[in-house]
Amino acid sequence: MSYDPDNLFARIARGEIPCVRVYEDAATLAFMDIMPQADGHTLVIPKLAGENLLDTPPAAVTAAILTTQRVAVAVQRAMQVPGIIVTQFNGQAAGQTVFHLHFHVIPAAAGAALRLHARQKADPAVLEAHAVRIRAALAAG
Ligand code: AMP
Repeated sequence: MSYDPDNLFARIARGEIPCVRVYEDAATLAFMDIMPQADGHTLVIPKLAGENLLDTPPAAVTAAILTTQRVAVAVQRAMQVPGIIVTQFNGQAAGQTVFHLHFHVIPAAAGAALRLHARQKADPAVLEAHAVRIRAALAAG
């Protein structure tokens, strides 16, 4: 399979498809997952990527993981959870459904089961409310 420059996340990165954005810089973008596995589930992408971790240029991987760290800290503060899961899938066989490198940042609390992956759309107003909290945590540094 080769990288499709018109995949969903490439189009989101170019602003052609809307997203609930929480953070953006020259090389990366972070936005709410529309089918969150937990409240506050956020995705981080490099703007210029390959399909996944295996074929993305190192500079883009570096930018994405640094933003992932920053966003993970903010999501933990914003959602007030004791843990954060960071996941990343490579290939359909591994569970990947969108073929543009992305890191999942998922709030985790003991005893709270995650919802199923990419299954149920959240209410847009709820996503925005969570994004407001995450943006505020990012702004607070
Ligand atoms: P993966 O299976 O790792 O490729 O994850 C793709 C993720 O993208 C899933 O968690 C989906 O819920 C999420 N997703 C799909 N469409 C959108 C969209 N338009 N905006 C935000 N997240 C999306």
